[in-house]
Amino acid sequence: MHEDHGVGDLLRLRTRARDVAVLGAPQAKLAAVVRLLNAFVFALALAFALVRMVPAVAGERPFGHWSSPERGLVVVDRTGDARWHQATRHAVAAWNRSGADLHLSWEASAGPCEPDGSRISVCTVTAESLDGVVQFQGLADQEADDAGHATSAVLEVCGDCGLSDVLRRVVATHELGHALGLPHNDRLGSVVYPIGGTDQPDDEDYAELRRLYDHTDPGA
Ligand SMILES: [Zn+2]
Ligand SMILES: [Zn+2]
Repeated sequence: MHEDHGVGDLLRLRTRARDVAVLGAPQAKLAAVVRLLNAFVFALALAFALVRMVPAVAGERPFGHWSSPERGLVVVDRTGDARWHQATRHAVAAWNRSGADLHLSWEASAGPCEPDGSRISVCTVTAESLDGVVQFQGLADQEADDAGHATSAVLEVCGDCGLSDVLRRVVATHELGHALGLPHNDRLGSVVYPIGGTDQPDDEDYAELRRLYDHTDPGA
């Protein structure tokens, strides 16, 4: 099992460094060394936490958007886990606020994660099966046709990474963003920033989604 380096741990390290700073003059030099050590440990822990937070896809490839007749999507949570249910419901609600010509609904069900058109399954998988060069905590597997329209999508999330509720929301919202057609970008505040970090799409994420769906497809 993986060790959990949460944000709480990092904040405690910082607090300790500040505690040392109130010691008297004889300890000043020692305190400086301790602060330096703490800063080093903090930087290491932060780097480790960032690597752990990567909910990225293995290879960058374009995600498709859903064609006009397929924009009533159903997110089918098959994790059987109440905490993931909460996270995937959060993701559905977050993306429904985009203003894009797209409507998501949510249901919980059993059964295997298999491509099923506009029904997007979410399943838990083991950390081992998600591991790549860095640790992945989620994966969006989308199929698209030659015209760039998504034809199915399956989301895999880590069932044994010991993720906090907020990280579950980060992973679910990030991966669902991919399933809707959003690629990674380099804005720190974006929910599809490659290493995650936020559980809420920002205005630009919503604007990008609206642009993706700002057309009617022929034959719709
Ligand atoms: Zn990603
Ligand atoms: Zn289209």
